[in-house]
Amino acid sequence: MPTEFPGIVLKHLNTLPSLERVVVHDAGPGEVAVRMVASGICHTDISTMRDARSTPVLLGHEGAGVVEEVGEGVAHVQPGDHVVINWQVKCGRCRRCLSGRQDLCENIQGTAAPRVFWNAAPVGVMLNAGTFCPRVVVPALGAVPIRNDMPLEKAAMLGCAVATGVGAALYTAKVQPGDAVVVIGAGGVGLSVVQGARLANAGLIVAIDRDEARREQARAYGATHTLPDAETAVRDVKALTDGRGAEHVFEVVGLPDLMLKGIDMLARGGALTLVGAAARDAVLPFHPRRFMSQQQVIQGCIYGSIRPMLDLPMFADWYMAGKLLLDEMHRTTVRLDEVPEVFATLERDRGIRPIVDLRDN
Ligand SMILES: [Zn+2]
Ligand SMILES: [Zn+2]
Repeated sequence: MPTEFPGIVLKHLNTLPSLERVVVHDAGPGEVAVRMVASGICHTDISTMRDARSTPVLLGHEGAGVVEEVGEGVAHVQPGDHVVINWQVKCGRCRRCLSGRQDLCENIQGTAAPRVFWNAAPVGVMLNAGTFCPRVVVPALGAVPIRNDMPLEKAAMLGCAVATGVGAALYTAKVQPGDAVVVIGAGGVGLSVVQGARLANAGLIVAIDRDEARREQARAYGATHTLPDAETAVRDVKALTDGRGAEHVFEVVGLPDLMLKGIDMLARGGALTLVGAAARDAVLPFHPRRFMSQQQVIQGCIYGSIRPMLDLPMFADWYMAGKLLLDEMHRTTVRLDEVPEVFATLERDRGIRPIVDLRDN
């Protein structure tokens, strides 16, 4: 039954989102309705304020909840199951999916028809998710079942920060034991890259961030060294690697200046992995010659190149086994109606990952 819920809607570019009443329909065939418990506020939600492809749009894409209803033909979950929202539902049928590279799927799935309405008209749903709303309707594999003993407010972070960061280290870059790794930017995603590098048994893990609390957290999550200043970091990274440079540099901020610094940190055969979302019109001017002679690589990374149905449940297992640390990233819980204020006052310390509590709506 179509039901009215509060939801955080961005009405126009370059304005703050607002709390609106939206109507969410039932799951159609091949779809799942999820009663959301928690949703993390990700940097991409914030950057959507200036670069959304269309408005109005219901924001939020990192979340977890409990299956409320399954549409016809859905067999992998049933009501009551705990799920993480996967915002990149692969088609399973395109050339990329069939070739074993589902991370490159050419036909990312949404619901068959709009399921969320605002002012009696369909409203866009960020990344086919729209988790800043107590009910989310996704294509079947947008609801990934996880063990039910992991707290859902922690599981929410698996859906973007952990998937992207841990995946970037393990799957996109394929960090090898002993590699020297540099992570530029130590927010929720950057800290997850640090953890991915630690899980891959990297040798040196250097985290660069201006914020002392984030540097401290990076050390707790596995960074062997931290640096406050990207300006002098090239020299420092060279010194830490006996002049060799790093096998892997991850740029998790999205700024061309920092990407250029990252290039200068690379060892022979090193790879710069672009994880942070740059502005759509950003340009990276670099000298290509050295990439030829030193066999270096610049590569993009979306959603950590993960296989959501396999990796999200595995990350939940790793958290429960104490291998993946998440508790320290989440220090602040906010209500849905406080989200616009969080967007407006980003400079205030709210911990690394503010989590929206979506129960009681
Ligand atoms: Zn995100
Ligand atoms: Zn595909």
